[in-house]
Amino acid sequence: MTAIAQRIADIRAGIPQDSAALVAVSKYHSAEAIAEAYAAGQRIFGESRVQELQEKQARLPSDIAWHFIGHLQPNKVKYIAPYIALVHAVDTPKLLSEIDRQARRFGRRIEVLLQIHVAAEATKFGMTFDECRALLDKGEWRDMQGIQIAGLMCMATHTDDESRIRAEFRSVRTFFDEIKARHFADCPAFRHRSYGMSEDYRIALAEGSTLVRIGSAIFGERQ
Ligand SMILES: *Cc1c(COP(=O)(O)O)cnc(C)c1O
Repeated sequence: MTAIAQRIADIRAGIPQDSAALVAVSKYHSAEAIAEAYAAGQRIFGESRVQELQEKQARLPSDIAWHFIGHLQPNKVKYIAPYIALVHAVDTPKLLSEIDRQARRFGRRIEVLLQIHVAAEATKFGMTFDECRALLDKGEWRDMQGIQIAGLMCMATHTDDESRIRAEFRSVRTFFDEIKARHFADCPAFRHRSYGMSEDYRIALAEGSTLVRIGSAIFGERQ
């Protein structure tokens, strides 16, 4: 087994009963490193820059499910709309409607997650709980045939304080249940809680993550 394959196997072994899927975050890593993970059976990869994703998508197998995990500018949606499987970090109504528009141009329905800002750092993106409630209550998304809102995403504060990280994940889980009951009770597609990275994915799994986004613990430090 290669080192990458071994790390993927170890992470998978720590996910209780397939409760979450592993998104291998390959940003800044080479197509060769991705091919190694692919050979180990990994099929979901996360990228955060459009141009880098475009280059990799063109070179790598077509059955890879590419997830866009970074901050996405509306004017770049058109480049990835033909193939992107899931957009994790939708943080404005404008981005949501642009994904809808571009998806319909390509005859697609793209799954998206709404990004919630729970971390202490102001540099992290996302909506407050109230902004997210307002967007959903407004209801325009119900007429958007090009998107499917599939859940929520967040990043925790970068801290050694585990209880703080746990509380942030837990708050998003509670909010997920609220939103599910209010808007998606009859919608099985609303199912994802995307949280947990290399440093905090074990806490995230314990707090109900369904998608862990792990980069450096698989591929090593980014260049
Ligand atoms: C880079 C990144 C990750 C992965 O980070 P690691 O610490 O390398 O696991 C996860 N989510 C987002 C949004 C990222 O930008």
